[in-house]
Amino acid sequence: MENLSERHEEKFIFLETFGCQMNENDSDRMLGFLKDIKYTRTDRPENADLIIINTCSIRDKAEQKVYSTLGRFRELKKERPWLIIGVSGCVAQQEGAALLKRAPYLDIVLGPHNIHKLKGYLNEVSLERKRVVSTELYDSIEFGEYSYTPVQTGIKAFVSIMRGCNNFCSYCIVPYTRGREVSRQVSDIVEEVVRLARSGVKEVTLIGQNVNSYGGGGLEFPGLLREVARVACIERVRFITSHPKDISEELIYLFKYEPKLCRHIHLPAQSGSDEILKRMRRGYSIEEYRAKVEKIKGLYPDFAITTDIIVGFPGESDLDFERTMELIESVRFDNIFSFMYSPRPKTKAAVMDGHVPLEIRSERLRILQEKQRDITLKRSLELAGKKVEVLVEGRSKGSGLEISGRTSCNRIVNFPGPEDLTGCLAEVVITDVFPNSLRGELVKPFGRNNLN
Ligand code: SF4
Repeated sequence: MENLSERHEEKFIFLETFGCQMNENDSDRMLGFLKDIKYTRTDRPENADLIIINTCSIRDKAEQKVYSTLGRFRELKKERPWLIIGVSGCVAQQEGAALLKRAPYLDIVLGPHNIHKLKGYLNEVSLERKRVVSTELYDSIEFGEYSYTPVQTGIKAFVSIMRGCNNFCSYCIVPYTRGREVSRQVSDIVEEVVRLARSGVKEVTLIGQNVNSYGGGGLEFPGLLREVARVACIERVRFITSHPKDISEELIYLFKYEPKLCRHIHLPAQSGSDEILKRMRRGYSIEEYRAKVEKIKGLYPDFAITTDIIVGFPGESDLDFERTMELIESVRFDNIFSFMYSPRPKTKAAVMDGHVPLEIRSERLRILQEKQRDITLKRSLELAGKKVEVLVEGRSKGSGLEISGRTSCNRIVNFPGPEDLTGCLAEVVITDVFPNSLRGELVKPFGRNNLN
């Protein structure tokens, strides 16, 4: 096999990402590292010199998807013998060398802690004809892990502030695939945000499995938020995910004083039943959860609150499910991300008794989602006729005549306007409400972007 770096100047990477924002961020980092060695992203795998599938194993379906996706690329390797194929992310971490056995045309298996080593591995594969498995988990952040060149991301970017999780919820595979919790240093994070702001980013979302337990360089999470909000040209700061047991009073009150903090919080409840929460090892009761939500709603009536719900967890009775329905009806979440429970290897829940049959799980999911669709629409209708602040993201995908952006509470708004408002905050009055978006009319832009 030839050395890719000598074959031709420009090389192409086809990168497919499954799963959560952590994976999106890992993909951006991979593209950033590869940019330094002249890789350009392509959406055509048949043109690629390198194909990477960045995988998720949080649910069983996502994992099966990886194997079928890999199969699609097998033939390409015969036509392009220099093609390197890699699998990264949680399935890579979970399966390790077994993946190489199952897919003999696969070259690299890359766990989430080893992304920054990708450049080196490419040469090992092309020069030394090695097949690489790199799935070590580290309990500290290695030098250079986040020193990547930002790729053109538009006006929004995710910034990883920590990795791993110490919570070991009984259904979750994350502590096994992403290791224990480690926080990045504040200075490192702020430097990355400054780099992103210089490349035109206006909104950053700080991400971690449990951002509320952040602790890097002597600062807790509210302190980090203050530092990031200070970065010039960053207009908005979001964060995800908050663990209900760890969200602090200090954080809740910070929204009063930090205008750049978006009016949205994602607070995964997972279930409305105390019995199920105990089996899930979530560390809070439903009363404690409700008290935090009520506090936020009382202080900030304009806030959007979203949540995650798992239905059909082992042992979930009809009564437990009713409790979950009561929770979503009484809180009236702006949106929920709902899933059927699926057992994951190594987790405690996988070996619990009381597994709920598939038909019951899927019926509960249907009932829950139908109810939530109605609530989401009603919550959106409350915005009709109101003026909202929108950060313009560009031309609307649905209509070429409109531009599109999001409110601070994270709703999509389309409205007629010039594309050069991209990156600007604009005041928009809401005229129409649809199930998944809003339409409005421009009242006035607040300022020019600094993209041009
Ligand atoms: S808090 Fe629980 S669900 Fe979330 S990543 Fe950690 S172990 Fe998984």
